[in-house]
Amino acid sequence: MLNIVLFGGPGAGKGTQALLLTEKFGLMHLSTGDMLRKEIASGSELGKIAGEIISNGELAPDELVIDMIREHIGQHPEAKGFIFDGFPRTQAQALALDKLLEEKDVQITAMVALDVSVDELTTRLLKRGEVSGRADDQSIDVIHNRIEVYHQKTEPIIDYYRAQEKYHPVDGLGSIEEIFNRLKQVILTLKPHAFQHSVQNYII
Ligand code: UDP
Ligand code: MG
Repeated sequence: MLNIVLFGGPGAGKGTQALLLTEKFGLMHLSTGDMLRKEIASGSELGKIAGEIISNGELAPDELVIDMIREHIGQHPEAKGFIFDGFPRTQAQALALDKLLEEKDVQITAMVALDVSVDELTTRLLKRGEVSGRADDQSIDVIHNRIEVYHQKTEPIIDYYRAQEKYHPVDGLGSIEEIFNRLKQVILTLKPHAFQHSVQNYII
């Protein structure tokens, strides 16, 4: 299985690139942000809890997002691999993800991280806010908080993957196609055993 953690700050381009990568490599896209927004839109109890947290730029509780991921992984036993977008966001989530995958006798292959400066992240989120309608993209204070939370709680998990030699930073500045090509290059140079039985599918 090819299991990729697509990493980066808020507004780094994870969602856009995840869609392209899932298509290219035939993977399943799991975005916890999208899952939470669906819950909010449906007006569920979980959505009510999440809506409040998200509109303040804070993180949903570990247990809640881990449960969502567990459920979605379980729904796709046929998957050739997963792209995790916006997850894990904390050390506890990274550990829980490894445990979940261990039960399937698989692993995270790599963390591919989009490097984008704080100034650029802020500009992109404000711009996205003009069209996204997302509450968390509207206010500069919430955007600053999201970036702060990212620095405090999320960025440290880079070390967790670096220690396992799975961390691959990529310049996140450029056109969508340029960045996609960079990500693709990294994924294609991952150790062949990561691709297991389907290595022939991944030759350009
Ligand atoms: N969020 C969360 N846990 C997750 C995913 C999302 O708490 O696993 C919340 C968090 O408040 C975050 C917001 O949902 O700021 C939007 O997440 P998403 O990943 O969609 O946003 P992005 O960072 O890609 O702009
Ligand atoms: Mg996103």
